[in-house]
Amino acid sequence: MWRIICEWLFPVSCLGCGASGIALCTACGPSDADAVHFHISGVPGVAIGPYDGDLRAAIVAMKRGERAYLDAFAAILACHITPGTILVPLPTTRRRRNVRGFDQAIELARRVAMLTGAMTHDVLRKRGAAQRGLGRLARLNAWGRFALRADAMLPVEAVVVDDVFTTGGTLRDGIATLRAAGVQVTGVVVLAWTAPGRNHRASGVVVPEATSVIGV
Ligand SMILES: [Zn+2]
Repeated sequence: MWRIICEWLFPVSCLGCGASGIALCTACGPSDADAVHFHISGVPGVAIGPYDGDLRAAIVAMKRGERAYLDAFAAILACHITPGTILVPLPTTRRRRNVRGFDQAIELARRVAMLTGAMTHDVLRKRGAAQRGLGRLARLNAWGRFALRADAMLPVEAVVVDDVFTTGGTLRDGIATLRAAGVQVTGVVVLAWTAPGRNHRASGVVVPEATSVIGV
């Protein structure tokens, strides 16, 4: 009922073609052929597409606080998740969550879990204050962004969920935190992959050898 009221109050339409009822329709969203497969810290990962075009615009809108994109993204991410998987989202800081109104990785993981029969364990929190005062490069390369939540129920195995693979720094940090706690990370799913040589080179960050890309 609430969803019907919301759709009436805030009609959703596709960012690409304007079709009603979904924020990014299957025709405008990435297809299977757009998926980017990569490895990071020895873990296989997949992005539903390159960080470009309508996908990029949709992610930017989501980060501005538009929840309608979460459902569209979750439906595409779900194709890469098998039932019974335990998803661990990489959360954002409390400050960003408060500005946006939600934590996108946590919301995506929950929606994907509902669609696929996977489970989600919110075991990580992102530290905010420790990163302050660092320059962009230092932030990208920093470790210790994440800590275990006090009430964390740690799974034996997990697939990590994040929004955009930019340099891989955040993912490597999240994987390392989980491994240090004894969790075996078996996969990574993200919304978008940023091509090396664009943002990576522009930011002065060298793509580490541990990151290899298949199918870009
Ligand atoms: Zn469309």
